[in-house]
Amino acid sequence: MKINKPAAELNIQNFLNNEWTKASGKPLEVTSPYFGNVVGSITESTSADLDKVVKSATEAQKDWAAKPIKERTQVMFNLREVLLNDIEKISEVVSLENGKTFAESRAGIMKGIEVLEFAIGIQNLDLGGKLEVSRGVFCEYRRKPVGVVANITPFNFPAMVPMWTLPIAIVLGNSYIWKPSEKTPLTSYYIAEAFKKAGLPAGVLSVVQGGKEIVEAILDHKGINAVGFVGSSKVAQLVYERGAKNGKRTLALGGAKNHIILLPDANEELTGKGISDSFTGCAGQRCMAASVLLAVGDCDAHISKIKERAESMELGNTMGAIITKEQVEFLNQAIEKAVSEGATLVLDGRNPKVSTEYEGGYWLGPTILDNVKPEMEAATRELFGPVLSIIRCKSISDAIKIENNNPYGNACSVFTSSGPLAETVISQASAGMIGVNIGVPVPREPFSFGGINYSKFGHGDITGHHSLDFWTDVRKITTKWEKQTDENWMS
Ligand code: NAD
Repeated sequence: MKINKPAAELNIQNFLNNEWTKASGKPLEVTSPYFGNVVGSITESTSADLDKVVKSATEAQKDWAAKPIKERTQVMFNLREVLLNDIEKISEVVSLENGKTFAESRAGIMKGIEVLEFAIGIQNLDLGGKLEVSRGVFCEYRRKPVGVVANITPFNFPAMVPMWTLPIAIVLGNSYIWKPSEKTPLTSYYIAEAFKKAGLPAGVLSVVQGGKEIVEAILDHKGINAVGFVGSSKVAQLVYERGAKNGKRTLALGGAKNHIILLPDANEELTGKGISDSFTGCAGQRCMAASVLLAVGDCDAHISKIKERAESMELGNTMGAIITKEQVEFLNQAIEKAVSEGATLVLDGRNPKVSTEYEGGYWLGPTILDNVKPEMEAATRELFGPVLSIIRCKSISDAIKIENNNPYGNACSVFTSSGPLAETVISQASAGMIGVNIGVPVPREPFSFGGINYSKFGHGDITGHHSLDFWTDVRKITTKWEKQTDENWMS
């Protein structure tokens, strides 16, 4: 579907008590990567605005947590229907402000709905347990919501990343303060409206807007008990350290540099599509995108297939735009630098042709660099664009060594037809999410999403089964009612 300029600009402020209320900070424009012009704005929230939001969230949380989980889940059932009804409209806004293709935006919302379905199922999971530990003495554990929680999200998935946490944290009885990226805040209007339409009581979800200042205010606010964060590693580390220093439960997911190990016995068609789609999808702006291809032995035929598929991408139709003009300039310079250091430009995506209506936008076509060396910037730095750096390796152990030396730990995939060789990579790769013949090895619910090493600060995962421990406190209760209890060592 074609992305069109909106008829009117949207101005987004604070979502407080289920209403959009005036924030007191500075205005900030939102620019569309498709057109390169302003399509909306936010007014930044201040710490005084945050005080009001935390007050409302604290009051709302008491009533919300007092409802049985089955009652809270009904709102999530309604939300699923609302989101499916509004999916086209929300996808258009995501594409407009982020630059994704319509199909990618829609897929992101569908993934968000999958997390929502997991949240709907939480009522049937293990939410507590009880055991008679000694005659007449019972030990029990119950999950209790953490209270008021906040979540800070990046530009690259304006709907999906917030939906990783919103339904789970809320259905478990927390109230939730969301701070979207200031680059892509417009989607937050539609998501918050969807929760309201679904019947979420006022105050359970709030939205504040802005950048660094409001994030710091969240991390310093005494009324907020837990903070989730998704973004670059540098900021994730700052957020984790400040949150932890202030005594908050904090989980901060960071950036990535993902490796694919390609073995000559891999199926050529599967490889061509899987690896090309991984580095060109969302114009390379996803934390699970392939970035470094470790080609073991003679993989030339496979690389031709990757190139063939990448070349067929049509900017503005099958491939989206880059978030800002500055990021396009950075990527152009990174490509130039790699070439000057000795890399071979197999496919050059710079200064690409786009249709006239998108000429003002921010574009870079798929770019493939071959003969990259492990120490070059193209092999070590997260570029966050549709650039694939190929490092030629003599053996699978050379490839694994390079993968292991990278500080990040989100994704690593292997393309091969051999089970034992795949197993070697599975057991030796350093990443938290591993794929076999999969270009983007994102676990599907109920399996948890989360990297390790420099891609994550804090313990646990942000979705799936393991997220229950982040969004709840586990309380242990021991009871003795009657005198029937035998005296023993634990009486
Ligand atoms: P970013 O770190 O610039 O921003 C993320 C959030 O932090 C935004 O809401 C922003 O307003 C806020 N922020 C920015 N600078 C800050 C500062 N100095 N102090 C406090 N808050 C600050 O990230 P981005 O550019 O929006 O997103 C891209 C990055 O996110 C990439 O590195 C990508 O790999 C990563 N990412 C990771 C995952 C994951 O699951 N690990 C998922 C999506 C994106």
